[in-house]
Amino acid sequence: MPLIRLIYSSDARETLVYRDFMEIMTKAGEVNASLEITGMLCYGNGKFLQALEGERATVNDLYFRISSDPRHRACQLVQVEDITTRDFAEWGMKIVNWSDAASASQQATLVAATGSDRFEPDQMTGLQATNFLRGLAAAERLLLS
Ligand code: FAD
Repeated sequence: MPLIRLIYSSDARETLVYRDFMEIMTKAGEVNASLEITGMLCYGNGKFLQALEGERATVNDLYFRISSDPRHRACQLVQVEDITTRDFAEWGMKIVNWSDAASASQQATLVAATGSDRFEPDQMTGLQATNFLRGLAAAERLLLS
């Protein structure tokens, strides 16, 4: 079965609170691990940008489930690509909370990938979103090394 990477953006429900966010992510981490889905999710300014990698049918099923979740809306596919290797292989769901005052290196990653210093995932091209999330992953690996 082919592997794909799917990236989408969405707007968080206005009433979403930190507890909802933690609940989503705790469950997502468990489910994704069991489905061999890897990925990264960045949240900031009331917006989500998420990459899901895995077998095509599994990623599709999960995306349709996620996109009908009432805790966010306006899901937009940003990019879907065939892949041979995973960019986020070590994470079932790595979360970056942009709202926690993004670090200088995260800001530099955003500017390098998108040319803008504002986190606006619904404005990113597929390539910009991919490069931004890859850059965040590289920064996380440096922190962990
Ligand atoms: P159940 O947990 O049985 O829920 C049934 C329905 O109710 C679903 O439609 C669900 O969306 C909705 N729901 C569940 N809890 C609440 C609540 N507290 N308030 C309102 N509605 C609720 N899940 C993953 O497995 N992997 C991911 O990577 C992932 N990423 C997500 C990213 C975002 C931005 C959001 C908002 C959700 C994400 N989810 C993810 C959660 C996903 O949408 C489903 O809730 C989850 O997969 C469980 O689905 P289920 O069909 O087993 O539903």
